[in-house]
Amino acid sequence: MKADIKSWNQEELGEFLISLGEKPFRAKQIYPWLHVKHVESFEEMTDISNKLKEKLTNSCELTVLKQVKVQQSKLDGTRKYLFALADGNMIESVLMGYHHGNSVCISSQVGCRMGCKFCASTLDGRVRNLTPGEMLDQIYRIQREIGERVSHVVVMGMGEPLDNYENLLKFIQLLSDENGMNISQRNITVSTCGIVPNMRRLAEEKLQITLALSLHGATQKKRQELMPIAKKYEIHQVVEACEYYFQRTGRRITFEYSLVGGTNDGEEDARQLSRLISGMNCHVNLIPVNPIKEQNYVQPDQKSVLNFKNKLEKYGINVTIRREMGRDIEGACGQLRKRFSERQGEG
Ligand code: SF4
Repeated sequence: MKADIKSWNQEELGEFLISLGEKPFRAKQIYPWLHVKHVESFEEMTDISNKLKEKLTNSCELTVLKQVKVQQSKLDGTRKYLFALADGNMIESVLMGYHHGNSVCISSQVGCRMGCKFCASTLDGRVRNLTPGEMLDQIYRIQREIGERVSHVVVMGMGEPLDNYENLLKFIQLLSDENGMNISQRNITVSTCGIVPNMRRLAEEKLQITLALSLHGATQKKRQELMPIAKKYEIHQVVEACEYYFQRTGRRITFEYSLVGGTNDGEEDARQLSRLISGMNCHVNLIPVNPIKEQNYVQPDQKSVLNFKNKLEKYGINVTIRREMGRDIEGACGQLRKRFSERQGEG
């Protein structure tokens, strides 16, 4: 398989061009076509000779995702994209408009092997990791389509980003590169289910990104019921890794807590949660879970969500309820892809 030109930084691109017998300065010409103008083919690079275009076509791959389907919420304008990769695999990305700008939630893998019980992305396991270029192009395609800048990126779609560590790191470097999209690392959030060694490793990378931990249960027992990964990395190890991340980066941790009706939304749960994270420089994001067909999880009613929030606040925890986006368009992550492949199968 040919190398992916979109997964290289400017320096690597320069080295590649030298190997093709070209002058390294050409990298300065080509890189912005890829990462600023987001071209879909070498043909669009108007200041490049035909000879070089031909060399590039023959020697490397230009990752461009194909938009298969897009759904737009009538409630809030959220757009959910289904993209096809070059090998025919499908991934999802979501565009959300906020007062602070356009935010895109991207996938980092095709499928996922983490097995969280409330998640549709994992039902068929992990197929493969995404390359840095495939992660970037979800943002590039969306920005090009809407004709507006994407200012915030969340790696919280299909896949576990820290299970694709090297590619994730490269993606972050390319996305925040001042010669490329130049998105501030402070506007990039990576969400993990708690792969402790890689959380600690990430803390050493000298990045300014936000780390969000999917906690979902306040005790080892509860967490383990919802998230099989918790059997490998115990809840206290995970929270310690979060503290370590804060110490090394100074970045406040976000705890994601999906509220599942009758499972983890009781008073005792709120008390245990506040005890677990008390004293930490953190923020809790409550997510009323989207019901998914394959599991019997129910969304808690608004009253119990508010009760849970109030309880945490009483214990001095900084907490928000995630504004529900795109409720009317195959809500939870992984559902659009799953329904699509089911329909293909039916067809
Ligand atoms: S919630 Fe995230 S980590 Fe868990 S199975 Fe779904 S995609 Fe994977």
